[in-house]
Amino acid sequence: MNSVVRPVPRSGILDIAPYVPGKSTATGGTKLHKLSSNETPLGASPKAIEAYRDLAAKLEFYPDGSATRLREAIARAHGLGADRIVCGNGSDEILHLLTSIYVGPGDEGVYSEYGFLVYPIAITGAGGTPVKVPEKNFTADVDALLAAVTPKTKIMFLANPNNPTGSYLPFDEVKRLHAGLPPHVLLVLDAAYAEYVRRNDYESGIELVSQSNNVVMARTFSKIYGLAGLRIGWMYGPEHVVDALNRYRGPFNMNAAAIAAGAAAIEDREFAARAGDHNETWLPKVTEALSAIGLTVTPSVGNFVLVHFPDRDGRRAPDADAFLQSQGIIVRRMDAYGLPNALRITIGSAEANEDVIAALTEFLK
Ligand SMILES: *Cc1c(COP(=O)(O)O)cnc(C)c1O
Repeated sequence: MNSVVRPVPRSGILDIAPYVPGKSTATGGTKLHKLSSNETPLGASPKAIEAYRDLAAKLEFYPDGSATRLREAIARAHGLGADRIVCGNGSDEILHLLTSIYVGPGDEGVYSEYGFLVYPIAITGAGGTPVKVPEKNFTADVDALLAAVTPKTKIMFLANPNNPTGSYLPFDEVKRLHAGLPPHVLLVLDAAYAEYVRRNDYESGIELVSQSNNVVMARTFSKIYGLAGLRIGWMYGPEHVVDALNRYRGPFNMNAAAIAAGAAAIEDREFAARAGDHNETWLPKVTEALSAIGLTVTPSVGNFVLVHFPDRDGRRAPDADAFLQSQGIIVRRMDAYGLPNALRITIGSAEANEDVIAALTEFLK
C-alpha cells in the first residue's frame, strides 16, 4: 500500500479556522475558553463514552421505556428505591413535566429572585403565574418565600445550590421552608450542583423527599458527570408524583445512549470524585484571586462564581465581558437575571482559570 499518496483537501480548505461550536462570540484570543454554561472542564468518564459508542451498533432498537438500567444505577449510587426515580431528557424536562402536571391557568408558581430562569419559563408555559420572591444577600429568603404562598400556589422551586448565585440554604432552612408550606404545594428541590457541595450543613433533599408527600428532588448528569450533550436528568419523589410523571411523560423520553452512558457515568465514582476535587481546588483560588483585585464575588458552593463589577465607566460587567471575549474567554452575562453589572464565570481547566484571573487583572488596571 502506498502510504505517501493520500486524498488532499483542495487549496484553501486547511486555511479555514476550525469552527468553534456553542454561542461563541469571542472576538479575539488564540485559545477559546467556554466558561458560560457550567460545563465541567474534565469531560465525561471514559466508561460513559465507551457505553455511548457501544450503542452505535444497536440504533434500530427502541430504548427501554422505563430506563431501568439507569434508574437502578442511580438507586444504587444514592441508596434509593429505583421505583421512586423518574428519568428525563435533562432535568429541564423533569422541571417542565412537573410544572405541566401541577400548574394550570390561574395557578401560581413561586421561585426565588435569582432562581434558575427555567422556572418562570415553565410556569408561564403551563399557563400559570410566576411569583418572584426577593432574596437577601443573593440567597433565597425562607420567610419571604413562605409569605408569597397563597391558596393559588401549586408549586415552589428552590435551586439548592442556586444558579447563577452559587449560594445555598443549609438543610435546616430547607426543612423550615417545607414545614411552613401548605401540604398541597409541591416543593421542587433542584440539586443540579449537589455533587460539588462540600459543606456539612448541606443536604440535597433525599431525606425530606423520603419523609414527605409534597417534596421532589431533581438532579442532572449535565454538570459534574460531564454529559450535558446527552440530556440526562432524574427525579426522586413520592410514589403519587412518580405515578403522575410516568403517566404523562413520553413513553421513550430517554434515549438508549443516554441510558447506557448515564449508568456507566454514575458507576464511575472515581471520575466524578476527581471532578469534585478539581472544583474544590479551583473554586477558592478563583474566588480569592478575583476578590484580591477588587471584584465582589458572591461566595459559591457550585462550579461557578457570580462576579460583581464596579459601577465605574469602562469597568462595568459589559466592558469586562467584551474584554474577556477579546481574550478568547466566554462567560455568561447576567442581564436576564436582572444583574446587568455581574458576570457568571464557570470554573474551568487550570489554564482557563489562570487566564480569567490574568485577563480581569489586566482589565481593572
Ligand atoms: C444546569 C442546571 C440544570 C440542569 O439542566 P439539564 O436540563 O439537566 O441540563 C438544572 N437546574 C439548574 C439550576 C441548573 O443550573
